Amino acid sequence: MSTDSFAHIVEEVQRSLRWLALAGWKGFDCRPETLSRLDGWSRSPVASVASTPKVPQPVADQGPAPSPVPCAETLARIRQDIGDCQRCKLWRQRRHIVFGQGDPRARLVFVGEGPGFDEDRQGEPFVGAAGQLLTKIIQAMGLSREQVYICNIIKCHPPGNRNPEADEIAACLPFLKRQLAVIAPDCICALGAVAARTLLETDLPISKLRGRFHQVQGIVVMPTFHPAYLLRNPEQKRAVWEDIQQIMVRLGLPRPSRGQSRPPTGATPG
Ligand code: URA
Repeated sequence: MSTDSFAHIVEEVQRSLRWLALAGWKGFDCRPETLSRLDGWSRSPVASVASTPKVPQPVADQGPAPSPVPCAETLARIRQDIGDCQRCKLWRQRRHIVFGQGDPRARLVFVGEGPGFDEDRQGEPFVGAAGQLLTKIIQAMGLSREQVYICNIIKCHPPGNRNPEADEIAACLPFLKRQLAVIAPDCICALGAVAARTLLETDLPISKLRGRFHQVQGIVVMPTFHPAYLLRNPEQKRAVWEDIQQIMVRLGLPRPSRGQSRPPTGATPG
């Protein structure tokens, strides 16, 4: 087998395991009787499966049973399931559901808080002033917006740009988790307190969370300050750039050339 094929198989296995972890799986039933039953399936494709599970069962006593693993989960399928969403009160004032954008196989996903005014108008994440700064950060990494995936904790614009409320996050988060499971990135960059606290299920302030890697269901998460915060507090750009450089090292991205080794300049003066 060629090194390329082997690397591809390893990558696919990693993706599948991350997907299962996000779906709530904590382990596999590897008892000899289960393995021999699975062995029987492969030798006898027409054997009755009525009394046997279609997928390995999670280890007992390790949390609630996950929902069945859908075979053809895709971003398109998730978008279809969201439909013309009215699961929380935000649907009344929104113009667009902002689903997410970028490479469905991206190794890096940026998760923000929720669409702002401009994003609601255009239906795309991070297109306003904060988005322009995020684009510069991505470019400073030597990447383009098309090479990463950009999305938010919630998909509809909260009136007056207020923070998302708990019921809104609860209604929307399952879809984000499904998106992350399909993309199965190597790293998530959580932008700002809402994204970091929601993904990491903590109340700690972003200042305590940023700057180091965390793990969420098998995926590495680097929290950092939100670009909108950076526009108001440009002195924090260096901290963000340090966080971003940690991500670059983790992903094996080439170091920026000397001229680029400074934080990107802001999208607006100051
Ligand atoms: N702020 C966010 O958190 N997300 C966006 O998409 C835009 C601004």
